[in-house]
Amino acid sequence: MKKLIVLTCLCMSTILWAQNSPSQLSHVDFQTASAQVVFKQDVEEVSGTMDFEIAIKSKVDSVFVDAKNLIDYEVRFNGSKADSLRYNGEQLILYAQLDNSSNNQLSIDFTIKPKKALYFIDADQDGKWEQAWTQGQGKYTSNWLPSIDDTSDKMIWNMQISVPKDLIAIANGAKRRFERGEEFDTFSYGMLQPMSSYLVAVAVGEYEFYTEQTENGVTLQYFYYPEERDKAFATYHDTREIFDYLVEEIGVEYPWQVYRQVPVKDFLYSGMENTSTTFFNDQFLVDEIGVNDRDYLNVNAHELAHQWFGNLVTAKSGNDHWLQEGFATYYALMAEREVYGDAYFSMELYQYAEALIELSNKPSKKALTDPVASSLTFYQHGAWALHALKDMIGASRFRESVQLYLQTYAYSNASTDDFIKIVEEVSQKDLTSFRKLWLETPQFPVEESLRLLRKDLFMEAYFQLAARRLDTFEDAQATYKEVLQTPVQEELVKEMVAQLAVHEDDRKYQLLVEASKLKNHKINQLISMSQQEVNAGNREMIEGFLNADSYITRENALYLLWQYASDRKKVLVHADELWESYSPSLRMAWFAMALNTNNFKKSEALEFLTELQKFTSPEYDTQTRTAAFDYLINMNAMSEQNYRDLMEASTHHVWRFYENSRDLLRSLYKKPESKSVINQILLKMDSDQAERFEAILRKSN
Ligand SMILES: [Zn+2]
Repeated sequence: MKKLIVLTCLCMSTILWAQNSPSQLSHVDFQTASAQVVFKQDVEEVSGTMDFEIAIKSKVDSVFVDAKNLIDYEVRFNGSKADSLRYNGEQLILYAQLDNSSNNQLSIDFTIKPKKALYFIDADQDGKWEQAWTQGQGKYTSNWLPSIDDTSDKMIWNMQISVPKDLIAIANGAKRRFERGEEFDTFSYGMLQPMSSYLVAVAVGEYEFYTEQTENGVTLQYFYYPEERDKAFATYHDTREIFDYLVEEIGVEYPWQVYRQVPVKDFLYSGMENTSTTFFNDQFLVDEIGVNDRDYLNVNAHELAHQWFGNLVTAKSGNDHWLQEGFATYYALMAEREVYGDAYFSMELYQYAEALIELSNKPSKKALTDPVASSLTFYQHGAWALHALKDMIGASRFRESVQLYLQTYAYSNASTDDFIKIVEEVSQKDLTSFRKLWLETPQFPVEESLRLLRKDLFMEAYFQLAARRLDTFEDAQATYKEVLQTPVQEELVKEMVAQLAVHEDDRKYQLLVEASKLKNHKINQLISMSQQEVNAGNREMIEGFLNADSYITRENALYLLWQYASDRKKVLVHADELWESYSPSLRMAWFAMALNTNNFKKSEALEFLTELQKFTSPEYDTQTRTAAFDYLINMNAMSEQNYRDLMEASTHHVWRFYENSRDLLRSLYKKPESKSVINQILLKMDSDQAERFEAILRKSN
């Protein structure tokens, strides 16, 4: 029941560079791309027209456009229908003898049924999707829209999107026009500067938004689902502050016309930095209590930093991927420091280092400039490399270098060499040994990172406290008392709470109670999580946690109090009267406890079960559904609908979710009762669908 909510993987990385796409950039330059597309609600495909403006730089006999999953197409070149075409499933190739020329018009009418990169969300399962969104990173845009995979061939994009009435369409750039139609409304968006095709984004759904202006007059648009405006305010906290901070720190104006953030359902990752239009997982949409459990701020800052590092200047190849992820991670951490303080910044770096040291002991470790390095390396090692570089050349030279780097390669691509060369010029330092130590050696530089961490006096204090881990309570308690003296340092208190968890001395409760009075969400979450029992020393504190501004703390407290109560029903009823809102996780926990409590009426218990069973529905996010399946399977309380939901989950597009659901489905299928329910459901399916599930069930764990 105790669960820390962690969303891993900020945005995708390694897959992006897995294969090199063919490049024609030395001969052919795609300059603008104008899409006119229609999204129909009863089909999961896209049709429309792509118009490209192309410059021929040297004589060629063919031009290609990347386009996968084409069902139907027709091509025109400079106004005439093109007949000399070949489609190989990946590229549409036009054969023609072309001389140096500009302003060539290539038009493609197309229908595509995408297998990935464009996702249609039909949460209510009525056969009509109510939300659609794209995920282009991984050079995937050509899976739903004819475009150019080569990230070096940047185009200025315009998009005109027709969507069923009552839905709105969102895309990159400024909104230019809106036309109301009978069946479809049409939204037009346009950009002023070029970008790589993987950054193209479209979201369609029911949305509202509010706006703010930044210090330099950039419009920030915050999207949310109708009726959830309050959640938007909680989720987007401090956005303007981090935006203004990044503009100032980076020293280059925000490079696009507008910045909007759009939550999307069942997103593959935490967030994606589509140019001017970040998409993020709507699990981050939380109310003012939930924000203390799952805070969007880091993802928010990370995707925003990519608007410069990745979108304005794009990595030249897989060897340079850290120029995107390392920078986004480091600048996000600096932005967070503005909100959470210096100690938070140092502790995060320390935790990155711990994870990287662990990775260093594995054979799979890779250098930062290795295209197949892990996300941990690209993100956290990348951030560390920049931190070390800044220390080496000084903050102002560092800032100057980054500024010059962005200005030099704006709207273009850069390599690690390009970046290092600029830093060497600005700093007048030879970076050969830096490069070897931080960029080219798979081993994480432990000694050097410790030396850098110790420059922060807070870290010295932290290391001294951490050295107490093996002490007896008797020996350590004087130090703990010092930790609680003002000015209190949150990170030190958290370390103390972690250490106290292993001590059995009852005097520790005094310290914990004192720590809980700081009313710090993170500290109280940790305390609530570390308690194994309710006793005279902690009862009052745990009862107080029921009022905490954190659903996680409330859930931990409720579970403890319920476990140790003589009248369990009373505990649950009291909590229910106390709380005005729940997170899905807390609600499920409450129902599960209620169902394991004897003195509720049968009719009440039935109602609780019905309510709990609803959480497996596709209307909920994948994390909630996963937890709901766990509860119901453990309680042996899966309804037929829950089995159907589990089967739907096992064909879902979110990898971790479908893998886990398949495992659950297979292990249930080994039990005779479950097997018979699943077989009954299979019988009612059409044969294609049934075959798909049979294949899933056959595969062993
Ligand atoms: Zn990223």
